Amino acid sequence: MHANFELDIAADLAEAVAMLADADGPGVAPLAGGTNLIVDIRAKRYRPRRLVGLDRVEALRGIADDGGRVRIGGRTTVTELLESPLIAATAPSLVQSARAFAGQMVRNTATVAGNIACGSPAADLVPPLLALDAELTLVSRSSSRTVALADFYQGYKKDVRRPDELIAAISWEKPAAGSHSRYYKLARRKGDAITVTGVAVSIVLDRGVCTRARIALGAVAPVVLRARSAEATLVGHGLTKERIGEAAAQAASASSPIDDVRASAAYRRHAVEVLTRRLVTDAWQPPI
Ligand SMILES: Cc1cc2nc3c(=O)[nH]c(=O)nc-3n(C[C@H](O)[C@H](O)[C@H](O)COP(=O)(O)OP(=O)(O)OC[C@H]3O[C@@H](n4cnc5c(N)ncnc54)[C@H](O)[C@@H]3O)c2cc1C
Repeated sequence: MHANFELDIAADLAEAVAMLADADGPGVAPLAGGTNLIVDIRAKRYRPRRLVGLDRVEALRGIADDGGRVRIGGRTTVTELLESPLIAATAPSLVQSARAFAGQMVRNTATVAGNIACGSPAADLVPPLLALDAELTLVSRSSSRTVALADFYQGYKKDVRRPDELIAAISWEKPAAGSHSRYYKLARRKGDAITVTGVAVSIVLDRGVCTRARIALGAVAPVVLRARSAEATLVGHGLTKERIGEAAAQAASASSPIDDVRASAAYRRHAVEVLTRRLVTDAWQPPI
């Protein structure tokens, strides 16, 4: 038997946040593409009283060049990321992540906010967004606040979002000249597979020196995390093979993976080192 819950379809953002604010107690959640939520409901991992459908909320859609920032609505789908020239020009790592995401049908409905909100350490869009220093706009009936994605997660599937808030938008600074970003999803097959290890890298190069570095690791800790000591090893230097190797080893040490049916912890840690080394080397193109 299917779960028994009410489904309220919000007409616009004001109605959506009002519906969440009026929720009396737990068991009420926003419904975007449903590719996580409906699976969880069918598996009886989640028993909602009421879902607030976001499909008609136009304010949650769109990909825009917002002055110095790229801004995407929370309800942007993975397919929409892939179709956007602005995303292609400003966030190649996000494109690589979107290309490796699920299969076509899921990409057509799965949303960016849904991926962030589900809190999975294997969520593929999170490492590239973290490496881009993305910020989230959280909106409720009575407030709007900006939270860095780096400060959003508090532990496994725990985050700072209040139940009455929506992730309305995600934004990041347009990359400076000399910026390069990459993402690689290691999984047991190419399509429709859960990530074994995901690494995103974003570096800025200025006259042969790395002036900014971000390395984000997915599926190797309770949350997607930044390898900050590895980043610090790269900044302020030309990137020799030895320096990149040192940073890659530090990234592996920053991870705390588990053994599961997809891979052992040791394999995942090794994958972090190999992928970090490859992605940084690939992003680093010293001027000849
Ligand atoms: C076959 C299959 C393959 C998959 N492959 C991948 C993959 O390769 N990589 C990957 O990362 N994931 C994958 N997923 C998981 C899922 O598709 C993604 O996490 C997706 O991005 C979830 O988005 P959604 O819009 O479907 O979210 P929903 O299922 O609608 O919601 C997920 C969670 O987010 C909350 N939520 C939704 N929108 C908002 C909002 N605007 N503000 C606040 N909270 C919100 C919901 O209440 C719920 O808790 C796969 C799922 C399936 C079924």
